[in-house]
Amino acid sequence: MSRWIDLEAKRYMPVAKRAPVVLVRGEGSRVWDEDGKAYLDLVGGWAVNTLGHSAPVIVDALTEQAATLIHTSNQFYTIPQLELADLLVEHSPFDRVFFSNSGVEANEGAVKLVRKYGQHKRNGAYAVITTDHSFHGRSLAMLTATGKDAYKKDYGPLPTGFLNVPFNDLDAIKQATTDETCAIMLEPVQGEGGVNVATKEYLQGVRDWCDQNNLVLVFDEVQTGVGRLGTLWGFEKFGVEPDVMTLAKGLGGGVPIGAILAKEKFSIFTYGDHGSTFGGNPLATAVALAVVREVLKQDIPGHVEKVGNYLMDKLRAMQTQRPYITDVRGFGLLVGVEFDSDISAQIISESMKEGMLLNAPAANMIRFMPPLVLTEAEADEAVEKLGTVLDRIKVAAPA
Ligand code: PLP
Repeated sequence: MSRWIDLEAKRYMPVAKRAPVVLVRGEGSRVWDEDGKAYLDLVGGWAVNTLGHSAPVIVDALTEQAATLIHTSNQFYTIPQLELADLLVEHSPFDRVFFSNSGVEANEGAVKLVRKYGQHKRNGAYAVITTDHSFHGRSLAMLTATGKDAYKKDYGPLPTGFLNVPFNDLDAIKQATTDETCAIMLEPVQGEGGVNVATKEYLQGVRDWCDQNNLVLVFDEVQTGVGRLGTLWGFEKFGVEPDVMTLAKGLGGGVPIGAILAKEKFSIFTYGDHGSTFGGNPLATAVALAVVREVLKQDIPGHVEKVGNYLMDKLRAMQTQRPYITDVRGFGLLVGVEFDSDISAQIISESMKEGMLLNAPAANMIRFMPPLVLTEAEADEAVEKLGTVLDRIKVAAPA
């Protein structure tokens, strides 16, 4: 066993169920382990590596900014932060931006924002409705918002003011809304929950309900934003605009950054309401600025739409030959494949032998969330390898 795996067992808090591989290098959609073995990376740092591993654009922005100004604190103006805010506003329907270090922090900030809105604009309302199987992060408030009980066990007492209702069920939201409700927070496609896609009618219904009741609609686009679904923002796939959107993951292409974007009416923070030591520092924002510029320049969303449809068509063709594949769903390069039995752990370990990394959000499901620069040839390779692995598993254990 690698001495690094040994060292983790002794020294690191065992919170992540790691695959037994030590990754040391990456390029494009491929990573290499310490023994020099190459893997096609369909995990993409959990939907983070927008431009691929160690993309020259990122390396250049990172090294140039590191040599210029890494960090100053938010006591002072810094240029990459404001350029990035300006670029995001220019390419979205939002008016103002705040930068954090991660998705959970962006969501925490968004919930503070909507609570303040409720306090001042909806008679002190404070409660946020979220959905079952959602994932909003691991802080105390966000794991309460998250629609999965397993994450909450052992951490009580949990903050009040969050209510989970079934996903894609507008009536459930209507019934759960009270005078205390200030906002509804949703992922347009639930990533961690198993690539569950909202319907257009549902999101439009929630939009209308928020408008009728002076509720703030927040989309958690930490996973779906920045091109992942084949549009720059996930909400564009559905034609439904939120009032507030959170981003993280793909925004920095591998450098930690999160963001809250809000329309002017809902952007009611004033001095002292929120803050962060590291959030929006020159290093992170210079890299994110380079990432977003490149995403726009190369039309990465257009590429994702094309290669994502190509991948999904191939997977659906595979499904017609293998009826134990019960569903193929998603948009762009956020794709879930569901099986009629709990074989995802086996698929993941057999795929590693074939030189391919995959993720399993559930025991009967695998998820593709590769770098957004994945090529059609790499999509072919992924499907071919998956076929080999499935045949091996199914021959070893016939249904
Ligand atoms: N929101 C969504 C939709 C996510 O998928 C995640 C992470 O997977 C988070 C929030 C939390 O982000 P982070 O891990 O950066 O705190």
